[in-house]
Amino acid sequence: MIDLRSDTVTKPSEAMRKVMATAVVGDDVLGEDPTVNQLQDKIASILGKDAGLFVPSGTMANQVAIKTHIQPGDEIIIDQNAHIFYYECGAAAVVSGGQFHCVRGDEGILSAEIIGPAIRPPDIHQPTTRLICLENSHNRGGGSIYTVENLAGIYQLAAEHDIRVHLDGARLFNAAFAAKTTVAELSRQTDSVCVAFSKGLGAPAGSVLCGSWEFIEKAIRFRKMLGGGMRQVGILAAACIYALDNNVERLEVDHQNAKRLAYGLTEMDGIKIDPEHVVTNIVIFDVGATPLDADTFAERLASMGVLLIPFGPTTLRAVTHLDVTTADIDLALEITQEFLKNL
Ligand SMILES: *Cc1c(COP(=O)(O)O)cnc(C)c1O
Repeated sequence: MIDLRSDTVTKPSEAMRKVMATAVVGDDVLGEDPTVNQLQDKIASILGKDAGLFVPSGTMANQVAIKTHIQPGDEIIIDQNAHIFYYECGAAAVVSGGQFHCVRGDEGILSAEIIGPAIRPPDIHQPTTRLICLENSHNRGGGSIYTVENLAGIYQLAAEHDIRVHLDGARLFNAAFAAKTTVAELSRQTDSVCVAFSKGLGAPAGSVLCGSWEFIEKAIRFRKMLGGGMRQVGILAAACIYALDNNVERLEVDHQNAKRLAYGLTEMDGIKIDPEHVVTNIVIFDVGATPLDADTFAERLASMGVLLIPFGPTTLRAVTHLDVTTADIDLALEITQEFLKNL
């Protein structure tokens, strides 16, 4: 099976399991897990923030951030396809009483020009715009990325209106490679940022939310409230530290593999894709010109050994990751070609 459904399917390597088995641990709710503390300090320093907070998932990182930033009734400006809006079960409404103000990004990517008109004026009838949520790289946008200049423009606009900026950086390391910059540069113009270790970095679980000392101090309470206070969780943090030390540089290989896949698909009848827009590890393509809808396409291709995720009525997503080699990509292309020929 060549599993291209998501970079979440990666499994911890032998070496990663070894550091997990020997991790020094303590009670993290008491702040006493040295490995968790080490991870939090390490990633906060890499991102250029004061402090970090280890949480079980990217969803919890985002929701703790939102709860720390807003009051019930406040409005959150967000792209209509953002993970926080699209894939988190309406959590911001339940957990924080937040109201979304959706705007349409360019492949999910917002800008000061797009956000500006959505900011509420000071009017007692209208909700208060309190937060802007960005996603980099953008999952449903096909792995699209922000430029540092764009982020700076958004942050300046937000500051002018006393609005906070949260960055969902589940795949921020991918974004940094593609933008030829650092994750610190991409995090500078934000009030909070989270990164995931369970995606392309290959750890079994965990995200870290970073921000100012004051922000993290508040966020710890909300993590506890949501049930995210874990105990000897240095076992997981050790895997995340291992991922930072060993699996960041190789993300570039995933990007090359994604490009290779995209260009290969370009040549196939019935498939529509613009390979120039594939800049990270996500490949979204359209099968509308074949006789199959996305669900059937995925189901039938799975029976031939290639796993993809249907992303819309006629679109599918493939994600490259550390458990997929370049040879796997070539084989996946061969199988897909064969599959299309026999339709
Ligand atoms: C996967 C993902 C999340 C959520 O992470 P989980 O660990 O699955 O909760 C958040 N944002 C983006 C952009 C993601 O891709």
